Amino acid sequence: MPFCPVCRMEYQPGVERCPDCDEPLVEQLPPQPEPQWDATDWETVEEVTDRATAAIIEGFLLEEGFPVRILDRSDTEFALSVGELAQIEVQVPVADLERALAILAERDEAFAVERQASEEPEAPEGEGTDS
Ligand SMILES: [Zn+2]
Repeated sequence: MPFCPVCRMEYQPGVERCPDCDEPLVEQLPPQPEPQWDATDWETVEEVTDRATAAIIEGFLLEEGFPVRILDRSDTEFALSVGELAQIEVQVPVADLERALAILAERDEAFAVERQASEEPEAPEGEGTDS
């Protein structure tokens, strides 16, 4: 099947030019260029112990427009040695770290407020909240 080398669309056999790009089609696409974010330095915004939680945070950050990757150590030998400790890290590019942390903190606050609204808080205010 011919492909357009510019927009990477696949066309029916017999089509010779991409109608969108006015570009001669090629039989095989050149290999995808390395995704640029592979060269990015990633920083962990949150460490969690299970994939479900990681997926929630990932979804949340993606929704906010952040590139996200999940570093899952639970399959490795390293994971065995740390047992139930955090094994999955949710990461964003270093450049986005501060913004992502701020947004996650806001989200946590919103959750905490919701929790407090539904169940009477028992702990006195200001306990163990310094970072
Ligand atoms: Zn094209």
